[in-house]
Amino acid sequence: MSGSYNAHSIYSASGAHRWMNCPPSAHLEQQFPNETSTYAEEGTAAHDLAEHKLKKALKMRSKKPTSPYHSDEMDEMTDLYVEYCLELIQKSKENCSDPQILIEQKLDFSDYVPEGFGTGDLVVVGDGNKSEKENGRGTLYVVDLKYGRGVIVSAEKNPQMMLYALGALSLFDMLYDIEKVSMAIVQPRVDNFSTWEITVEELLKWAEEELKPKALLASTGGGEFCAGDHCRFCRAKNQCRARAVKNLELLKYEFQDPALLTDEEIAEIIGLADELAKWAGDIYTYATALAINEGREWDGFKLVEGRTRRKFTDETAVAETAKEAGYTDIFKQSLITITEMEKLMGKKKFNELLGSLVEKPKGKLTLVSEADKRQAVDPIHAEFQVES
Ligand code: SF4
Repeated sequence: MSGSYNAHSIYSASGAHRWMNCPPSAHLEQQFPNETSTYAEEGTAAHDLAEHKLKKALKMRSKKPTSPYHSDEMDEMTDLYVEYCLELIQKSKENCSDPQILIEQKLDFSDYVPEGFGTGDLVVVGDGNKSEKENGRGTLYVVDLKYGRGVIVSAEKNPQMMLYALGALSLFDMLYDIEKVSMAIVQPRVDNFSTWEITVEELLKWAEEELKPKALLASTGGGEFCAGDHCRFCRAKNQCRARAVKNLELLKYEFQDPALLTDEEIAEIIGLADELAKWAGDIYTYATALAINEGREWDGFKLVEGRTRRKFTDETAVAETAKEAGYTDIFKQSLITITEMEKLMGKKKFNELLGSLVEKPKGKLTLVSEADKRQAVDPIHAEFQVES
């Protein structure tokens, strides 16, 4: 679930990746306002709509939410989420006629993290009911909808999901004998349906040995600042010194011999460049916002108007005026886009009629970290676009 539901907990599940990697960030963040963004509001609208649709599909009472963020895309994406959830519920019914289904359930993991709680989009437990002995040990399912598409989120070893799992376990472990937890992140806008399973034994071991000590450090403001990709959602990221120091490490290459960088150094710089670019971009956006909104002046910089392109203010009036003056060759026709065409015809008809007329051009070759999930390509034997 998005961060807005966890706004009152400093040690929120959605921030766990950050505060587990950088425990003092939990306290440092508190001096910065928890500002919402259009992305967060859009995410909340998608969650509300998805919750409503899932409840309706399960014949539960629900009132359709309204939001200015609703769109055809949101409708389609929340349908995909609901479809996924219904399949999962169906699967759990194979072992149990009456599985427990919780939607938008508050999950309390404060046994491990002070004041820790979050909201599970969908929690399902079917088999393993202690009163039905023949049922065997059960699986607990935890599903989280992510509406964003900026970062692809994996369920594997995802601390947010593991915290939800701990909260869900504490709800059910009196009644059910649960052997493992299956976690799923549904991120339909980037076609990401990531799942991961862990045994309850391993989950509790992680909670005792890794989570609890980090949560203790975070709650006391202890531990070391540690910058990394987790800084992305930290409210202190623009002014954080640890992040600046880490990124400025690049400068050490200025003073080294020999005169030319070695291949190893270039590889190391590429590894840092992505984070460095994000950091520099964040500082620039932050400084610009203060200059515009609060009149803050930065030595050596000024505000100017960006370059723009001319545009017509009233296309109908332009066409009429041009026609009256004898200019008739003023229109260009263009086809609607693939997405619009697919929406117009529906996926099936679209593939039937136009499938053979659609191609996906090869992507531009890009150098990325080995951790990236895409398949490596051989540039010698494959034809790809190369930047000129
Ligand atoms: S910006 Fe990064 S290093 Fe700094 S407090 Fe936040 S998470 Fe820690």
